[in-house]
Parts: sequence; structure tokens; C-alpha cells
Amino acid sequence: MVVFGGRSPKGRLSMGIERVTHDVYRIGMGYVSAYLIVQHEVSVIDTGLPKHREIILKTASQAGRKPDEVKHILLTHHHADHTGSLAELMGATSAKGYIHPLDAAIVRGEKPAPGPNREILAGRILGPLMVRITPKLQPIEALQETNDGDEVPAAGGMKAIHTPGHTAGHLSFLWPQNGGILFAGDAVSNVFRGPRPPVGALGGMFTEDMAQAKESFRKLAELEFEVACFGHGGPIKGKAHAAFRREVEKLAK
Ligand SMILES: [Zn+2]
Ligand SMILES: [Zn+2]
Repeated sequence: MVVFGGRSPKGRLSMGIERVTHDVYRIGMGYVSAYLIVQHEVSVIDTGLPKHREIILKTASQAGRKPDEVKHILLTHHHADHTGSLAELMGATSAKGYIHPLDAAIVRGEKPAPGPNREILAGRILGPLMVRITPKLQPIEALQETNDGDEVPAAGGMKAIHTPGHTAGHLSFLWPQNGGILFAGDAVSNVFRGPRPPVGALGGMFTEDMAQAKESFRKLAELEFEVACFGHGGPIKGKAHAAFRREVEKLAK
């Protein structure tokens, strides 16, 4: 059991909420996760599926924070399982939303989402069905456009890293505290046997450019971070960069 020092959350955490490190909470929403960093204010990384505002605010509350203390919402990319509760959460808080300009255009409703990748079999077969069942989200205008290398003023400074491929404007976020915590969004998934680029039948179906996604995975593997958190799959809580580098070597073979 890991025991964290300092202020601890009131009572037990609800089902689906996991404390990854002292300040980082993971909220499981079925197959996708959102994250909270709780310090003097609350930062949210991705908002998960639609209609999940309450579990996000409940997590903040269990960590002793009120809705008006949620100040920043960092979005890794435009997909509906990551921006689903954005409108609801922005409506209930005074938080600012940060996203790369290429994906911002889709969240604002200026551009349609590209949809499943028809170059792979799963995308061709399941694509039309997936488009039908993907929820249509309310467009959000007020977004802070965030580019590669920008420091987002969340949790004392969070570095944005452009990791295109899964989507054109995909961002990963590196939080330099606690030995480095990487929020990889869907640039990397950890669903089967270690961190992987989002390729293969399911991960690849919604990946816009496979070659670029592999390149972005290599770029992340060069960074220093102890912990890695993913949109899909559980976190790696120690020596995460080593797990990434092992996988890069396998990709090269
Ligand atoms: Zn995605
Ligand atoms: Zn996803």
C-alpha cells in the first residue's frame, strides 16, 4: 500500500476514483479516464464522456475542493470521450479550457471531426456505426489555444507537447513535479502489455495518421518522467520513461 504524506482526502474515495500520486487523481469512466491535479486550485486533464461532470466535481470535493476552485481544464484532443463533459464542467466552474488550435476548430464546431480512419479495416467496417453512436457535443467557443512548448498556468506550470497523429492537434502534458508526470492522452495507450502508440484495430480506428502517431510516441519516450497517465489503461506509477523506451526499441525492430 502506498501511503502519501500531507493532507489526505476526507474519508474514502468513491468507486472509480484512484489516487495516482499525492496530488493526482484518476477518474475511471468505463473505458476512458480523466485526471485531476489538486493543489491550492484544481486542474482537470480531459473531461471524459458526456454527463460526467458530477463525478469530476465529487472527486474535487472528496479532495476538499469546491467547484469554484476548479480553474483549468487541459484537453489532450477533440474526441468526444475526452471533451464530453467540457461544456457541463465549464458551466459549473470558472475554469479556462486549453487545447491545440487544430483540435480547437473541431470543439468550436468550425470543422467536422475527421471520423474513423478508413485506411484500416476496422475503420472501414465499424466506421459508419461509430459515427452514428458518437455523441454530438455542444460547440465551445471560449478556448485558450495552446501550442507545442507552451506552459499552461495550471498546477504551477504544465508543459504542452504537440504529439500529433492520433489527432492533428493532440497535446500531451508534462508536469515537472514529483519526478515528472506525463499525461499522454491518446498519444499512448496502456491497455495491452505496456505503453503503445495508438495503433492496432481499436486504438488505430480513430487515429488520423499512424506514422505520425509512432513519431509522437518516440518523442515522448525521450522525455524524463516517473509516472505516466493515459486516456485508456491504468497509470504507470514508477520508472514510466523506461517502459516507454523499451517499447520504442521494439518498434524499431
Ligand atoms: Zn482519442
Ligand atoms: Zn480516447
